Amino acid sequence: PEDSSLAYFDSYMENELQREEAIEEELSKFLQGEGDGRLYLMFQPMVTLKGDRITGFEALARFESKALGLVMPMEFIRIAERKQLICQLGEVIFREACEFLRILESSGNHGIKVAVNISGVQLMRECFSEGVRDIIGKCGADPSMIELEITESILVSDFEVINERLGQLRNQGIRIHLDDFGTGYSSLHRLRELQVDTLKIDRSFISSIKGTDDNDSITGDVIRMAHRVGLVAVAEGVETDLQKDYLIANGCDYYQGYLASPPLEKAKAIELLARINPK
Ligand code: C2E
Ligand code: CA
Ligand code: CA
Ligand code: CA
Repeated sequence: PEDSSLAYFDSYMENELQREEAIEEELSKFLQGEGDGRLYLMFQPMVTLKGDRITGFEALARFESKALGLVMPMEFIRIAERKQLICQLGEVIFREACEFLRILESSGNHGIKVAVNISGVQLMRECFSEGVRDIIGKCGADPSMIELEITESILVSDFEVINERLGQLRNQGIRIHLDDFGTGYSSLHRLRELQVDTLKIDRSFISSIKGTDDNDSITGDVIRMAHRVGLVAVAEGVETDLQKDYLIANGCDYYQGYLASPPLEKAKAIELLARINPK
């Protein structure tokens, strides 16, 4: 049995490696305009806790090909980062997000924002903010309708460099969200100097809320701390009314999660908007 479990482990690792290689190959083919791979975005609404109005959407990337089926970003973003494909991929994603902004405008949904997830690798590139400015200029988007999400974990290294980059982006009118807040510890004491507008409280905090007046949950403290340093508070991964009631009671500004809506395709997102925010 010892031997066979080892053999099982070996073949598991081999399959993992093969899948990674296959994903890398399909991604690079896609970026060269070859193969049948398709990259697209799903859009999950961000909703006010007071009044349930949609103020924006977060773009979430998907990759699909005949050979691989649907590949989720948790899997392919990491591979793209490691294989130096993330910057090119990030540009495709950013262009697609700007395209959705244009669809929102042309369907009469003015003032709805689109948030794009950015990898730390992208942000560290010298020319990142110029690249962003170029794409925004070319598609004629309004920079104040664009938000970029960076995860707290990238602040561990090069705080000064990253903060300067974020400052450049904010000077263009782009808002910055600090994503997955609470999963890293590095930035807590530097939150005041950090060039961000919004704290997105990680789902792990939200899912641990036990009741509307759960005094043990520190989610309320995180919301109050965000407000104290002048940041907007967003809760992610809200799945139940109980969690939502807690967030309302603790003054959180916005929420996202299956309770409001899962990520949707473009057309469905526009449909939802017409239903939730009637003109
Ligand atoms: P994230 O930015 O924290 O995005 C939230 C993830 O939680 C999404 O998973 C979303 O579908 C999922 N989610 C939303 N509401 C709920 C809920 O109520 N319950 C639960 N259990 N899950 C919920 P997804 O789309 O698989 O994305 C995973 C991660 O991949 C994202 O986490 C983000 O870090 C990364 N990612 C996605 N798209 C991109 C992209 O275009 N570029 C980069 N660099 N990263 C991306
Ligand atoms: Ca995000
Ligand atoms: Ca997040
Ligand atoms: Ca998260």
